[in-house]
Amino acid sequence: MSHDPNCLFCKIIAGQIPSRKVYEDSELLAFHDIHPWAPVHVLIIPKLHIASMVELTDEHAALLGKMSVLAPKLMRELGVTNGFRTVINTGPDGGQEVYHLHMHAMGGPRPWLKG
Ligand code: 5GP
Ligand code: ZN
Repeated sequence: MSHDPNCLFCKIIAGQIPSRKVYEDSELLAFHDIHPWAPVHVLIIPKLHIASMVELTDEHAALLGKMSVLAPKLMRELGVTNGFRTVINTGPDGGQEVYHLHMHAMGGPRPWLKG
């Protein structure tokens, strides 16, 4: 399924739920997390609905590569100069709450709320 009408992040991609976007292209969207753990906390998501890393196949390798390459660019653009953390939570024991693949990218001066 490329789009899941019941998925929160698919609704954000479709513009049905507002978000503070920081980046968009034909394959990826990035926006500020609604409950940031760090001074800068963005989520990088594929526009393709992929529920979690468990669903990944070899076809998705380039897409994941693009997400990883985008993270440092966005951190730089958002003024993060002293390092950042990237996290992908997967499944119940991984603490995943939204089942649309997303990479957290967090930075800014510590202390942070979490992480
Ligand atoms: P997970 O726990 O699945 O790795 O992370 C989901 C993230 O999505 C959480 O950090 C949460 O704050 C964020 N989130 C949940 N709902 C919304 C929303 O409606 N808008 C935005 N911008 N972030 C959301
Ligand atoms: Zn989705």
